[in-house]
Amino acid sequence: MSNPFDLAILGSGFGGSLLAMVARRLGMRVLLLERGSHPRFAIGESTSPLTNLLLEKIARDFDLPRLLPLTQYGAWKRAYPELTVGLKRGFSFYHHVAGEPFASDPERNRQLLVAASPNNAVADTHWYRPEFDHFLVREAQALGVEYVDRVSIDGLTRTGGCTELSGAREGQAVRYQAGFVVDATGPRGALTRLLGLPEAEFAGYPPTQALFTHFAGVDRFAPLAGTPGEPPYAPDDAALHHVFGGGWMWMLRFENGVTSAGIAVEDRLARELRLEDKDAAWDRFLARYHSILEQFQGATPVLPFIHAPRLAYRTRTVTGEGWALLPSAAAFVDPLFSTGFPLTLLGIRRLATALSLRGTAAFPIQLREYERRTLREADTTASLVAGCYAAFPEFPAFAALSMVYFTAASYSEMARRLDRPQLASEFLLGNQPAFYAALRRHAEAAGRGEPASAEEIAADLEPFNIAGLSDPAKRNWYGVDLEDVAHGAAKLSCSEAEVRRGIVKMLQPLS
Ligand SMILES: Cc1cc2nc3c(=O)[nH]c(=O)nc-3n(C[C@H](O)[C@H](O)[C@H](O)COP(=O)(O)OP(=O)(O)OC[C@H]3O[C@@H](n4cnc5c(N)ncnc54)[C@H](O)[C@@H]3O)c2cc1C
Repeated sequence: MSNPFDLAILGSGFGGSLLAMVARRLGMRVLLLERGSHPRFAIGESTSPLTNLLLEKIARDFDLPRLLPLTQYGAWKRAYPELTVGLKRGFSFYHHVAGEPFASDPERNRQLLVAASPNNAVADTHWYRPEFDHFLVREAQALGVEYVDRVSIDGLTRTGGCTELSGAREGQAVRYQAGFVVDATGPRGALTRLLGLPEAEFAGYPPTQALFTHFAGVDRFAPLAGTPGEPPYAPDDAALHHVFGGGWMWMLRFENGVTSAGIAVEDRLARELRLEDKDAAWDRFLARYHSILEQFQGATPVLPFIHAPRLAYRTRTVTGEGWALLPSAAAFVDPLFSTGFPLTLLGIRRLATALSLRGTAAFPIQLREYERRTLREADTTASLVAGCYAAFPEFPAFAALSMVYFTAASYSEMARRLDRPQLASEFLLGNQPAFYAALRRHAEAAGRGEPASAEEIAADLEPFNIAGLSDPAKRNWYGVDLEDVAHGAAKLSCSEAEVRRGIVKMLQPLS
């Protein structure tokens, strides 16, 4: 056995590799242990403005310049043409009714397009995880992280301030020692099993399941939707969602011809579709929704289907003596609104702060604070998503409630761009009591089947609405309206001139 490492990280998804790099920059000796090997399939692909801002900030603050181009579509294409990417200009939603084709109406009451960026150059991306994660592992190794793949860890003992991990690699027993261990293996992952950590439920959250894979030959939906007018962006160059009673479907297009698609549905619908039948269940799903079936007419899966029989997960404990779970190992709600990456990135940042204080009395205090925020942010996300599931059958109710997410997201983005991160220090503005109360109230009302009107929701969001959202005149098509942002300066405790300077920065592609 070699000398103890300062930090052992279990799992080399994007979260584990990124934390490994950050810890190296903090001067730690880092071990990264992976059960499988790269390149490999991973789910969780779609970014958002907040994801990219948080990643950019980590890259700048921890001297990881090679990660910067990955935070913008245009810069990525220039710097790493060999890494497959997908263009994400926004969030597109279309509402479907079983047994009927999608019906476009002049008021656009059955669709919602929310742009996330003003042009392709500075747009968000979908990460093609086989290549993206492999790249990050190689970057971590280049920084001196010791990476061991195809290793299975089945024992953990802690003595004298040091943790020993034991297991096997290619039939040989292995043992590693580390001062601190972080679990980056995802929900119900390595430490959860090794330490027997108890699971808790999200209060009021519906049981959901998922079925997903990668496809070739998926058509674009916008031409099938047949909506007149010029949308704020090409609706398929986005995270495209098909929404229906009982669940929703995601579609993310990559530039290698692959489309990631899957459904997340409540148990009732999962039982009707018999989701465990995988391919046959997928065909049963498509047969219900005529326009989605049309979109998939020429499509074939390029990987086997994955059935997740229980999608949401929440632990009770996030940290303990000598260990911590990444947010992505502590909880997962649903892919809706692409919340997994920002939650993980916020956690990596907080763990980095804690780790930089190891050996001091502040370390355990920081870890407890990390635990509190991780669970609270997961619970807030679950509350909003639960409300959305209840609202899916009535699209106008869902569209109105979704404005809670988009208001929080755009406010958080601008607060960070304007160097006022304290205004949005928690995900979904959990640090803003008025906003947090409105989120809980409206999500719970929707969950009870008594959604508030769009006007009531808009009134509560108004003090934080800096992006011209909840505006009936826009008829559910929201472009990036920079004048709205400038006029919302006071909501961000800024002058209009400061905001205009922030906008100029936002429009500048990374060089
Ligand atoms: C269906 C679905 C869709 C999602 N879509 C989105 C989205 O669009 N946007 C978004 O922001 N988030 C999304 N998420 C969440 C997102 O997947 C996670 O936030 C993200 O993958 C977390 O990254 P990670 O590196 O922590 O974990 P992962 O990407 O899960 O990586 C875990 C790694 O640990 C390894 N591992 C597992 N067990 C062990 C072990 N015992 N020992 C060692 N290694 C092990 C695995 O092989 C893997 O390499 C989605 C999640 C799901 C379930």
